[in-house]
Amino acid sequence: MIDLKDFEYDELTEYLMSIGEKKFRAEQIFSWLHKGVKSYEEMTNLSRDIREKLNRETYVSTLSVREKLVSEIDGTVKYLFELPDGNCIESVVMRYHHGLTICISSQVGCRMGCRFCASTIGGLYRNLTAGEILNQVIFAQKDMGERIGNIVIMGIGEPLDNYDNIIKFLHNVNHEKGLNIGYRHITLSTCGVVPMIYRLADEKLPITLTISLHAPNNSIRNSIMPVNHKYNIEELLNACRYYFEATNRRISFEYSLIHGVNDSMSDAEELAARIADLHGHVNLIPVNKVEERSFEKGSIGDIKAFQERLVSLGINATVRRELGADISASCGQLRKKVL
Ligand code: SAH
Repeated sequence: MIDLKDFEYDELTEYLMSIGEKKFRAEQIFSWLHKGVKSYEEMTNLSRDIREKLNRETYVSTLSVREKLVSEIDGTVKYLFELPDGNCIESVVMRYHHGLTICISSQVGCRMGCRFCASTIGGLYRNLTAGEILNQVIFAQKDMGERIGNIVIMGIGEPLDNYDNIIKFLHNVNHEKGLNIGYRHITLSTCGVVPMIYRLADEKLPITLTISLHAPNNSIRNSIMPVNHKYNIEELLNACRYYFEATNRRISFEYSLIHGVNDSMSDAEELAARIADLHGHVNLIPVNKVEERSFEKGSIGDIKAFQERLVSLGINATVRRELGADISASCGQLRKKVL
């Protein structure tokens, strides 16, 4: 059975024509799907004949909410969604002054093995389909009853390890007949799958790329991020330079501060020198404690000092505000708890 949300608009049009339908049906069906209807019966401008035909080969995919937690501190909402095969993924909706932002998952589990991360502990189960990635935005928006204007692909999984489905998702979520979310309002975060950064650059989508750097040199990065053994920092930053030249979009960097591992003053200095020519923004994240991992965050003073050192060296750096601290809002934590 085909999930029509796995089709891009043109593919949907082609499919409908192949089953003897008129072209204009694509627009109707595409926009219903993106409104979060749960069956063809809800598509009230389709004849019974078309609905029956669609039901023969295709279905309307949905997500069910297995758990929903609302932070009492800041209103952050965390969803544990259950997929049709029983697997679970997480999405988080955060409220900023400019509107709602959703953080979505790209895979069930992850095979990248970052030492500090909860999502990778059980390894990769499977990729999410393009429809499943999109459904997180559709169903969260429907549940919130309010437009979601920004997307960050920073939940469970490595998006560039599920490349084709992520690209389909990006095209669909941006489509004017669908949710119509601008590429400039979408951020994709990667641990550094270098060949896919080059491919993404050549797609020329003006999304923001953010790199989970977390270390100023190969020796530290090798010790916390296995992907660095395959694609080292020099190769990664060269890919970033290519991305910047191809898209004219500045890269941002995530740097989770782990006490005694990557948070010394000399680490800050080495980091500043390495990325200076990229003029990117550095997001400092005090590492979140994960039960199975022994990493600790530094004191507020340590974190502030690291930021100030970067700023004094001309690097734009901010400390990420912690949202949803009371509801396990960081990636992978809730799924792991429930499983
Ligand atoms: N796989 C992608 C996106 C998912 S993770 C990536 O690696 O970028 C989103 C961000 O959270 C990444 O920067 C990741 O390194 C970071 N992260 C994961 N576990 C963390 C933890 N325990 N504390 C702080 N940041 C963490």
